[in-house]
Amino acid sequence: MRRPGHWPLGVQLALAFALVTVLALGGSGALLLYQTSDRLMEERAESVLAWGQAAAGLAAEYWAEPQEGMTLALYRFHQQSGIRPVAVDGRGVVIADITTGTPLLGQRLTHPEVHGALAGKPTTGARRLPTGEWVMYAGVPVVVGEAQVGAVLLAADIGAVRDAQQDLLRQLAWVAGAMALLAVLLGVLLARYLTRPLVRLREAVSRLARGRLDTRVTPGGSSELRDLGHGFNRMAAELGRLDRQRRAFVADASHELRTPIAAIRALAEPLLTDRPVDVAVYKEHLQDIVHECDRAGRLVNSLLELARLDMRAEARSQAGEGAEPVDLRQIAEEVAHALEPLAAERGVRLEVLPGPPVLAPAVARLVESVVGNLVENGIKYTPRGGSVQVAAGVGPVPALREALESGGADRAGAARGEAADSAAVAWVTVTDTGIGIPPEHQAHIFERFYRVDKARSRATGGAGLGLAIAAEAAAQLGGRIHVESEVGRGSRFTFILPV
Ligand code: ADP
Repeated sequence: MRRPGHWPLGVQLALAFALVTVLALGGSGALLLYQTSDRLMEERAESVLAWGQAAAGLAAEYWAEPQEGMTLALYRFHQQSGIRPVAVDGRGVVIADITTGTPLLGQRLTHPEVHGALAGKPTTGARRLPTGEWVMYAGVPVVVGEAQVGAVLLAADIGAVRDAQQDLLRQLAWVAGAMALLAVLLGVLLARYLTRPLVRLREAVSRLARGRLDTRVTPGGSSELRDLGHGFNRMAAELGRLDRQRRAFVADASHELRTPIAAIRALAEPLLTDRPVDVAVYKEHLQDIVHECDRAGRLVNSLLELARLDMRAEARSQAGEGAEPVDLRQIAEEVAHALEPLAAERGVRLEVLPGPPVLAPAVARLVESVVGNLVENGIKYTPRGGSVQVAAGVGPVPALREALESGGADRAGAARGEAADSAAVAWVTVTDTGIGIPPEHQAHIFERFYRVDKARSRATGGAGLGLAIAAEAAAQLGGRIHVESEVGRGSRFTFILPV
């Protein structure tokens, strides 16, 4: 047996409706019944008392001859009013009675109404007789001259009043029952109407749970349910987007890995011949194979780095968690030192501007990842004879303000609002005199596998993951990367970290 709180909403609503109806109708019905029967009784008591006054007048008129005149007069009174009267003397003993069946003559009456009347006060009272009848009694004093000599007691049948009360009660019960039924019916209909959007939503949720990410609902019903519907649609859209992104990522990664594998195969196959092959050719092919292996290795390393960052983002809820003060300039120097051979090979001058330590709360490995990818790109995309300059500092970021004010690029995503408050940031700029990035590409270069010039980028060995890794690492430190670039003149990437 389920708890009432777990019953279907429709049943709960219907029962609540019925309960409220029965309570409201029952309460007002009881009040009505009570007031009505009270008034009916009061009216009857007044009328019996009025008849009592008349009977007392008759009794006073014939007081001297109770057996003849008074009895006859009371008999006529009975015929006229339908009420049975008896007259008692000052001690309560019956001196005139109109019935012949069970004559009370000579008996002493002990009714409270008789006592009241003999004490000088007209009194009424309703009682149920042992026979089951309801009777209204009225005792009225009989006054002859100035003196009270006795009283009359009237007994009126009030069965009709009781019947009227019973009738009313029955009718009320019927009405309450019918209304409760109607309320249940209404409750069921209303609940069905109200819960329709909820039922639709429940179906949509289970469809979504089965993997149908294109599921959407038409938001309807109350404002809360409508909000829920919109929320569901947004959630489903986001899930769909993430799923598409994941598929695209897997497809891109596979595609990128296929290229070096195909190249290695193409280089190795001609060597597997029975004809003698020149050692120089062997060497050349093997060198190319090693080159392709390096490229595949770099790609796998990048993919692993991204996967690590994704897992880190999932595990840590807050940006920059696990951070400790690191010297950005020192890291820039280490990175530059490690990349010096690459710069020398490419004929690019690489320098880090000297200055005091630039301390910021960060994770050294992530900062290395950001700066390393930016510097490596600077070297890769700068022609021979050019230069890459790295600078670090705290406070206002050079040139960034102008770039922002002129509506310039602000790409790496995260917290745009922070750019205005550049006093509370540490920064590293990597400025090159390279080929530059066309404005229409600047918005996309931080996407995974995005390359401006695919052929050229491939020649330099990039798969389009370096900036994606840098941006993700920056975001995890609570920072971001800003890019300014001019085609043919060079680019500046600024890594901004809140302090
Ligand atoms: P890749 O491995 O191809 O360098 P990145 O994600 O590092 O991938 O960069 C994405 C693209 O952005 C590059 O393919 C290149 O076209 C462009 N890019 C990045 N850095 C620079 C730069 N300093 N100068 C010019 N173009 C750049």
